[in-house]
Formats: sequence, structure tokens, C-alpha cells
Amino acid sequence: MLIDLRIERRIELSIIEKDARLSNPKVTIETIKKYNFAFQKRFGQNFLIDSHVIDKIIEAADITKDDIIVEIGPGIGTMTQYLCENAKKVYAIEIDKNLIPILADTLAPYDNVEVVNQDVLKTDIEALAGKGNKVKVVANLPYYITTPIIMGLFENHIPAESITVMVQKEVAYRMQAEPGGKDYGALSLAVQYYAEPYIAANVPPNCFMPRPGVGSAVIRLTAYDNPPVKVKDERLMFKLIRASFNQRRKTLQNGINNSGEVSFTKEQVENALLKMGLPASVRGETLTLEQFAMLSDLLGE
Ligand code: SAM
Repeated sequence: MLIDLRIERRIELSIIEKDARLSNPKVTIETIKKYNFAFQKRFGQNFLIDSHVIDKIIEAADITKDDIIVEIGPGIGTMTQYLCENAKKVYAIEIDKNLIPILADTLAPYDNVEVVNQDVLKTDIEALAGKGNKVKVVANLPYYITTPIIMGLFENHIPAESITVMVQKEVAYRMQAEPGGKDYGALSLAVQYYAEPYIAANVPPNCFMPRPGVGSAVIRLTAYDNPPVKVKDERLMFKLIRASFNQRRKTLQNGINNSGEVSFTKEQVENALLKMGLPASVRGETLTLEQFAMLSDLLGE
């Protein structure tokens, strides 16, 4: 369902004074009281109440007046207000129907925003933004579905130049991790196949209402035009990656052998590893993206 928030009450585009914006905690509290809004834990609702953090996100996303923005989960519209002022057009996808009337109010001064009352996981972003248009995705993500959202955006090959998101701090570090470390895993490899990650800021819990029980970080993922490694069968490579990290403590050979997703014998894996100059005892957590691509090509032969 598309809700056009264009209204008669048009104000010049300098728009809302800083103190009257939702990033002022007083304004957020007033708005929540006015609408008797109850935060829903199941939707991961932690609203931003710090203008410096929003400035940092806008800066990291490098937003200009030519940009089409897709915001995932606008909440009551706190960051959306800033996005509308800095971008050409904003599509804000919000699952919670109770927030729609609030957004109609808080975003009323802007004529360059469309609120879409939908689950982002079921939204065709390319169709929404118009075929052929590149977008920048910006969000303070609901933490309960961070990975499905990010992976969904990449795997559906949405036309995004970049994805700049607030996520749980540990997840940001996992996305950026390099081989060998404790944070390195399937998410690091998947993200780094599609994009170059850069952590732009760490954000403490007191910048949100209600405060989350974890630290947060802003990460920018700049999408590659072409993946940094060539692989014959992308799906097989990702199956192998998942198999290797499902059982972190096992050798790569055992991990792949025990996986229900692929059916290679220990000997087949050992032979492939030998061809790559790697010992049979190697663990998945030490392999680079290039090595997983090579392993996938050898096993797929
Ligand atoms: N952007 C707002 C802010 O920074 O104040 C709210 C961020 S809050 C962490 C996450 C938002 O995502 C909530 O508004 C929540 O209702 C919304 N949300 C949760 N799951 C969603 C989904 N599957 N699709 C779209 N929005 C979702």
C-alpha cells in the first residue's frame, strides 16, 4: 500500500527548525504521548534521539540532492526528516501500521517522501524506486532481522550504490572482519563479495529511545559493480562457506562432509585443498574469499 504524504501545508524546504525535529528527545516524547504509541519489541523499535548520530549517518551515506533514498523502518520519522532535506526523493518502508498516521504528521512538511506500509523483506525495491534508478539504502535497522535484510538486498541485486545502516556493533565488526579472527564468518564473506564495508561510527545505547541492551555501529557498504572474485557457481560457493562455518571448530573437510547442503566426500575436499596448496587440516576461518571461490570451482568441476 502506497501512502502519498504530499500535503497542502507546504513550507519552504529549509523546513523544520532543529529544535523542533524528532531528534530532539523532548519532541520524540511529545509525539509518542500525542499518539499514545506503544513501542513494539518484536519490531526492534529503538528510535534515534541524537542529531549528531543522524548527521554522521547522512555524512557516511554521502547523500546529495540527486539521490533517491530507500529508508528501511522510518519509525516516527526521525531520520526521515533529515533524509528528506538532503535527498531528491525518499521511499520509507515501515511494517508497523500504528506508525503510519504518526509519519503522516511528522513528515507532512515534505513533498519528496512516500511511506510504504510493508515488510521490507516482501518489498520489490527496484519496482518501488523505478526501473533503472540507482538508490542509496539508509536505515537504523531492526536488529532482529539485520542479516536477512542485508543479504536479501544483495541477493536480490537491488540497484543500490550503497547501504548505510545502524546495526548491532558486533554485527558491524563481523561484516568487516578479515580471515583468521574470531569475528570472521559467513556474513563477512557474503558482505565482502558484494560490497566494501567501512565502519563510520560507534554509537552508545543512550542515543536511542528505548535504550537497546547492546552497543551499535554505523556501517557503510559500498556496492561493487562486479564482485572482487570470479566464481563459476556463486550458489555453490555460498553453500561451501555456510558448511565451513556451521561447525567452526571442525576442519573445513569435516565441516563440508557433515553438511546437509552439499555432498562432497572428505577425499574430494582433500584433493581440492591439495591442488590449492592447503593442508587437509585447514579450518574454514583461515580461507579468504578468493580461496573459497577457488575451492568452489575445483569441487564444482
Ligand atoms: N528509523 C527510526 C529511527 O531511527 O528512529 C526507527 C528505527 S527502529 C530501530 C527500526 C524500525 O524498523 C521500526 O520502526 C520498526 O517498526 C521497523 N521494522 C521492523 N521490522 C521491519 C520490516 N520487516 N520491514 C519494515 N520495517 C520494519
